[in-house]
Amino acid sequence: MKAAVFIEPGRIEVRDVPLAPCGPDDIIVKIHACGICGSDVRNFRAGLRRNAQGITSQIMGHEFTGVVSETGANVTRYRIGDPVAAAPDVSCGRCWYCRRGLANLCDYHRMLGVDWPGGFAEYAQLPAEVLERGMIHHVPDGLSLDDAAMSEPAASVIAAQENAGVGLGDTILILGDGPIGCLHLEVARARGASRVFMSGALRLRAAEAFGPDLLMDGRREDVVRKVREATGGLGVDFAVCANPVAATQEQGVQAVRKRGTVILFGGLPKDKPRTTLDSNRIHYGEIRVVGAFSYPAPIHLKALAAIRDGVITPSKYITLILPLDETVRGFAAAVAGEALKVLIKP
Ligand SMILES: [Zn+2]
Ligand SMILES: [Zn+2]
Repeated sequence: MKAAVFIEPGRIEVRDVPLAPCGPDDIIVKIHACGICGSDVRNFRAGLRRNAQGITSQIMGHEFTGVVSETGANVTRYRIGDPVAAAPDVSCGRCWYCRRGLANLCDYHRMLGVDWPGGFAEYAQLPAEVLERGMIHHVPDGLSLDDAAMSEPAASVIAAQENAGVGLGDTILILGDGPIGCLHLEVARARGASRVFMSGALRLRAAEAFGPDLLMDGRREDVVRKVREATGGLGVDFAVCANPVAATQEQGVQAVRKRGTVILFGGLPKDKPRTTLDSNRIHYGEIRVVGAFSYPAPIHLKALAAIRDGVITPSKYITLILPLDETVRGFAAAVAGEALKVLIKP
């Protein structure tokens, strides 16, 4: 089959590669679409972590949808022709976290696109452990396979806001105007937030379509001052750092009110993970600074339902669809902010 294989930092090649056979407990999915994630872009630049098999070259891509094209003899949950959407995380089911329903924090966390070949390919072979301990969900009726590809990033945003407790009447500042920032905007509104402010850089035009109450160019505007002005000096209830920039984490701490919450959503570059936060402000203001990473399976189902119900509008994100041969161009377009979400279709 044809696949876009990540070879080394900065190098992806479209090649013919063998597809693993479908074992008795496995399925094969014919890929319909695979979104390019911010983490794919990061890995493309910095390299993939060494996976369980000890390799760092892999077919990336974990935001994929497709149709089941082959099922093993023992498989009962999936039938040929079923439309499915994949989320990447695979947990062990046995560690301290898994036993408490926190599969996203599994000590032995593995991922499609790293530990198994991902979705930038014509087919994906999904072995039993991925079907058992991962998230290969049926796409609900009435939801297209293009739109369902947004379910993976949407799920992580829904989980972050659920855990932090964003709700009715809240004011929220989103730092980052990429697809994740815009998803945070839509999800915050759906959860009842009354005012949503956003600061960004490359994708302000696209972000405007989501109707933030205040949209700031973080490169030229004093975001913290403007947010303070807009809230009568109080500050926001929540700030979400939805990009890989340490400086915006500092802005988040400055922009929330006392007892406000800063959600560190975007990971920082692997070689520069440190940030500098005003710890006295956190201390005296009793500010909560919380992390957010991935989600357990029920949240992915919620995301599929939210997209089907129109709470999240994929058409505003997916403005560039490219064939597999142009995967590298898709990565460049994602970096340049040409589209909020780039879909690759084999
Ligand atoms: Zn993703
Ligand atoms: Zn585990």
